[in-house]
Amino acid sequence: MGIERKEFQAESKELLNLMINSIYSNREIFLRELISNASDAIDKRRFLALNSNGKIPLIEKPEIWLIPNKDERTLIIKDDGIGMNYDELVNNIGTIAKSGSKEFAQKIKEAKESHDVDIIGQFGVGFYSAFMVAKKIIIETKSVNEEKGYRFISDGSESYTIEDIDKNDVGTSITLFLKDDNDEENYSSYLDYYTIEYLVQKYSNYVRYPIKMEEKHKENKKDQDGKDIENEFEEKSEIKTLNSMIPIWKKNKNDVKESEYNEFYKNNFHDYKDPLHYVSINVEGMLSYNALIFIPSHLRNEVYNREDAGLSLYAKNVFIMDKCKDLLPHYLYFLEGLVDSNDLNLNISREMLQENKNIIKIRNNIENKFIANLKELKENDFNKYKEIYLLYGPALKYGIYESYGSKNELLKDLLVFKSLKHKDDFIDLKTYLKEMKEGQKDIYFASGRSVEEISLYPELERFKKDDIDVLFFDKDVDEFAIQALNNYDSHSFKSISEFNENDLTKEEKDNLESLTITYKRELDDMKEALKEKVSDVKFSTKLVDSPVSLINKDGLSLNMEKILSSLNPNENLKMEKILEINPNHQIFKKISELKDDEKIKEYSKLLYNEALILNGLEIEDKEEFTELLNKFLLK
Ligand code: ADP
Repeated sequence: MGIERKEFQAESKELLNLMINSIYSNREIFLRELISNASDAIDKRRFLALNSNGKIPLIEKPEIWLIPNKDERTLIIKDDGIGMNYDELVNNIGTIAKSGSKEFAQKIKEAKESHDVDIIGQFGVGFYSAFMVAKKIIIETKSVNEEKGYRFISDGSESYTIEDIDKNDVGTSITLFLKDDNDEENYSSYLDYYTIEYLVQKYSNYVRYPIKMEEKHKENKKDQDGKDIENEFEEKSEIKTLNSMIPIWKKNKNDVKESEYNEFYKNNFHDYKDPLHYVSINVEGMLSYNALIFIPSHLRNEVYNREDAGLSLYAKNVFIMDKCKDLLPHYLYFLEGLVDSNDLNLNISREMLQENKNIIKIRNNIENKFIANLKELKENDFNKYKEIYLLYGPALKYGIYESYGSKNELLKDLLVFKSLKHKDDFIDLKTYLKEMKEGQKDIYFASGRSVEEISLYPELERFKKDDIDVLFFDKDVDEFAIQALNNYDSHSFKSISEFNENDLTKEEKDNLESLTITYKRELDDMKEALKEKVSDVKFSTKLVDSPVSLINKDGLSLNMEKILSSLNPNENLKMEKILEINPNHQIFKKISELKDDEKIKEYSKLLYNEALILNGLEIEDKEEFTELLNKFLLK
C-alpha cells in the first residue's frame, strides 16, 4: 500500500496541541497511560482467545516490555495484546473517540486559565499524553486477525503516516523518541531504570501482567579468588518484573493504602478527583466474588438514568466488559467499580447477563453489603456520611420510591433530614421518634424548595409554639419517597398542610365556630374580594406570628402541587386554595375595626399576596399588588 499520509481530526489536533505545549509537572503519567493501554489490549486478546473455540491460541504468559535505549534516546513499550488493523489505527489513534478526551480538553483549558497544574496527572488522557515527552512516535502493530502489520508515524502535529509492514508477532510496540532535555525537564530520566521502576510502582503496580525490563549495570571484574579487580568492569544484566501484579481487589484491604485505592480509581475510572469513599467486598462460599466499589466525589452524570453507568466485570481474573449495568440496582447507578468472580463463565455475553442467576445474586449481595457499609459510616463518621448524602441522598430516596416500598427496611434508616428543631444539621427518623412529644402520633413534615423557604411557612408557627418537630423536605423526591415508605415504626407521615379540623380539640373547634359567626361580615367581604383566587376564607389555629397562610383544599402540599405540575407541564393541575386567617393577629383586629367593606377588600388582596410569598409561591398579579402597596404606604 505504500506510505499514506493522513490528517488528524480537528479535535485530536486541538488535544495534541495542548499536550505538546503543556507546561505541566506531571508529564510522567504518559507511562501509566501507555501501560494501561497495553494491559487492556492483552485483556482483549485473552478474552477473544477464550471465546474462539480454540481458533485463536491463548498466549500463556503475556508480557509488557519496557525497553529504553540511551544512545537512540528512545523508549519502547511493547505488548502481546490484540493489536490493531488499519481501520483501528485510524479510528482509535487518529481520532478522539472517547467522550472523556473532549471533557479533558475542556478541563485542561480551564486549568491553564486557573493555573491548576495538577489536572493532567489526575485524568485518564490516553495515548496522546505520550506527546508530552516524545517529539516523534512510531507504532508498529499487528492485529490477531491480520496477515500484515502496520506502522504509524507522527510528530504530533497536523498529520501522520501509515504504511503496511511485515511483522511476525501479534501485538503492539510503541517507540517514543524523547524530546531534548531542557532547563525545565530532564526527558532522559525516562530512560533510567530506577525512574521507570518508580513510575511503574507508583502508577501501574496492579496491572495484572508482568511489566518487564532489563536492568543493566556494571560490576567489578573478579579475580580467581573472587576479589574485585580494580578499575575493570563488566556489563551485567538481569530481567526484572517491575510490578506486583496481584490485582488490588484481591488484596486484603488492610494491606492497601487509601492512596493506592484512590490512584487505582482515578486511573481505571477516568476521574480526576479522589473518590469520596470506597468499599472492598470479598465473598467466599457457594458463590465467590471480589468487588471494589467507589463513590465519586462529584456528580459525574445525572444521578439516576446514567447512560454509562455500571461496574466492570471480570471472570477468573479476565476482563469481560465495562459498564455492566446488571451488577447494580438502578438507584445505585452513581457508583463506580468492578466485580471479579471465579464462578462466572468467560463467554458470558451482555444479553445473557440479565437472566444469569449468579449475576443477580452478586447484584443483590453488593447492594446489601454497600448499604450495610453506608449504615456503618452513618454511625461512625457522620460528617463523611453527610458529604455522601448531600450528593446521593436523592438517589437513595429514589431507591425507596422506585421499589414501591420493597426496599423500605433496607433503606429507611439511611434517610436524614433537616428539621424545624435541627435546621443546621440532619437527623434521622429514629431520632425524630425519640424526640417526639408525649401523645404525638404522626411524623410531621413540610416540603418546599429550600430550607430557607420552608422556614417561612406560617403553618410551622403552631408546631413551634407546641414544641413539635417538623422534618423539612427540600428535595423533589422526598414526598414521593415518603409515600412509598408509608410509615416509620408504625408512625405515619403527615404534611403540616394536612393538619386539619380533625386534629383540633373540642375547645378549639368551638372557638373557631363562634369566631366564624361573630366575624361573618369580615369573612364574607374577604371571600368576595378573593372569589377568583380562593375557594374559601377560614380562621385557623395554626398561625401564631403570621396573619395569613394558604393551603390546598384537599390537603396536598403546595410543594407537591408544584412538582406535579412541573412533571406534567401541559396539564392544568391548579388546585383549589383556602386562605387561612390568624384571628389573634393585630392585622385581623384592625380589619374587624374597619367600617368600610371596600377597605376590607383591599386588605384581603394584600394579605393574599403576602400568603403567596410566605408559602413560596409567585405573586400572580404584580401590578395590582404594587398599586395596593403604594396606596397603603401613602396613607
Ligand atoms: P483509551 O485507552 O482511554 O480508549 P487511548 O487514546 O489511550 O484512549 O487509546 C485509544 C484506543 O486505541 C484504545 O481504546 C485502543 O482501542 C487503541 N489502543 C491504544 N493502545 C493500544 C495497544 N497498545 N494495543 C491495541 N490497541 C491500542
